Amino acid sequence: MTPDTGLLPGAAAVGGSGRIRPTAVRASGARVYDDRGRDYIDGSSGPVCVNLGHGVPEVLAAMRDQAERICMVHRSQFSHPATAGLTEEVLALAGPRYREVVYTNSGSEATETALRLAMLHHAGGRTAVLTQLPSYHGMTAGALGVSGHPPRRAGLGPLHDSSAVSVPVAPAGADRLVPGRQEWEAAFERVGPDRVAAVVVEPVGGAASGAVPTPDAVLRRLRELCDTSGALLVVDEVMTGFGRTGEWFGHLRSGVTPDLVVTGKGLSAGYTPIGACLVGHRVLPGHSATDLAFGHTMGGNPLSTATALAVLRYTAAHRLPERAARVGAVLRERLAAIAADLPFLGAPRGRGLLLALPVRQDAAAHAREPLAGRICAAAERHGLIVYPAGIDHRTQAVLVTPPLTIGDEELDELGLRLRRALRAVHDGTDRDGGD
Ligand code: PMP
Repeated sequence: MTPDTGLLPGAAAVGGSGRIRPTAVRASGARVYDDRGRDYIDGSSGPVCVNLGHGVPEVLAAMRDQAERICMVHRSQFSHPATAGLTEEVLALAGPRYREVVYTNSGSEATETALRLAMLHHAGGRTAVLTQLPSYHGMTAGALGVSGHPPRRAGLGPLHDSSAVSVPVAPAGADRLVPGRQEWEAAFERVGPDRVAAVVVEPVGGAASGAVPTPDAVLRRLRELCDTSGALLVVDEVMTGFGRTGEWFGHLRSGVTPDLVVTGKGLSAGYTPIGACLVGHRVLPGHSATDLAFGHTMGGNPLSTATALAVLRYTAAHRLPERAARVGAVLRERLAAIAADLPFLGAPRGRGLLLALPVRQDAAAHAREPLAGRICAAAERHGLIVYPAGIDHRTQAVLVTPPLTIGDEELDELGLRLRRALRAVHDGTDRDGGD
C-alpha cells in the first residue's frame, strides 16, 4: 500500500494502476455495452464530453453525409460551408465581442492557441500567465505548464519552467477551495501588473477542483484587474461550454466578457476531435488570428466542423442547456440524499450537470489510497462510470456528469448503482472477488 502523500497519483486516481478496463463495443443514449454484454450507465459522459449521449441519429447522419462529400480540405486553401456555418453559430452564441474562431483538435490545443495569441497581443513584452490552484487547462506542454495541477505535472519540471503562476488559496481562506478576490489582487501585485500577459480561469473547475465554481464576483474582479493592467482574460470553457452548466457558457451569468474563450469537449459532444478558441476584437486588432496563430493540420477540417454544427443544432433544438439546469437540480438532490448516509462524503457541489460528490477532507487525508479512485472502481463493477477529480485531499471528489439528454430510467439506474457502489466501499466489500 502506498502511503498517502496528500496528492492523488494521476494513474492510480483514474484507475490506471494495472486495473483491467472493460472492452466497450457499442453505446446508445447514456449506456455503454461491453464485449460480455454488460451495460454501464455513462455517469461521466466519458471524460465529460458526451453531452448528447451516444448514437444520436441526427449527428450520425450529418457525419455520414459530410464524410461522403469531403473529409478534409485545408483552411489555407479552401473555405468550407460547415466551418463557416459553425463559426457563425458559435459567434452568435458567444456575443458581439468576438470576431473569429480558431479551430484545433482538442481543448489543450485551444489553450495553446489562447496562450500564443496572448503573447502576440503583447508583442513579446509580457510573459506571466496567472491561473488558479487548483486548475486544469490541458495536457500539452504549454497548457499543462499553466495548469495548477501538481499531480499531472509531476516529473515534468523542466518542461514547465515557465512564467506561469498558480494562485493558491491563502492560509486564512482555508474554508475555500479556490482563490478569492484578495488572492488574485495579491498575485497581480506580486508578479507586477505590467508583467501579466493573461489570466486563465475555468468558470467551474473540472478535473482539478472537482466541480468547484469560480464565484461570479471573482470573475468580475478578474475582468477589472485585467482591464486596469492590460492583461487578457482567458476563460477555459472546455468542460463547461455548450450547455453542461445549464447555460451555453459557464461565464455568461457573471456578465463578464472574456478576451479569449477556450472550448473543446461539448463542441462536438465527443463525436469527433475538435477544439476552438474564440478571439475577441481587441486581441489582435486588424489581424486574422487564424493566419497569425498558424495552427494544426486538421484544425477546422470539414468532417469535424460538420459534426460540431450538427451537435450545436441538436443542442439548441432540444434546449439542452435548460435541460441540464433542470435535470441537474434533480440529480443534485438525489446525490445529497445518497451522501447523507455515508460518513466519507460531503454535500454535492457544482452547477447544472457538472456535479461532484466530494470526499470529506478528513476521510481523504486518512485513506491509504485515494477514495475517489476507489469509488470509481467500485462504481464500474456495479455498472456505472464516474470520474475521479482533485489534486489533493482537500479537493478529492467524484464527478457525476451524465449526458444532458439522460432519461428518467437511466437517471434512476445511475442513482441505484451509485448507492450500491458507495455502500460496498463503505462496508469494505468493494474489493471482494468481483463478478
Ligand atoms: N481545459 C479543461 C477545463 C479541461 O477539462 C480539459 C480536458 N479535461 C482541457 C482543457 C484539455 O482538453 P483536451 O483533453 O481535449 O485536450
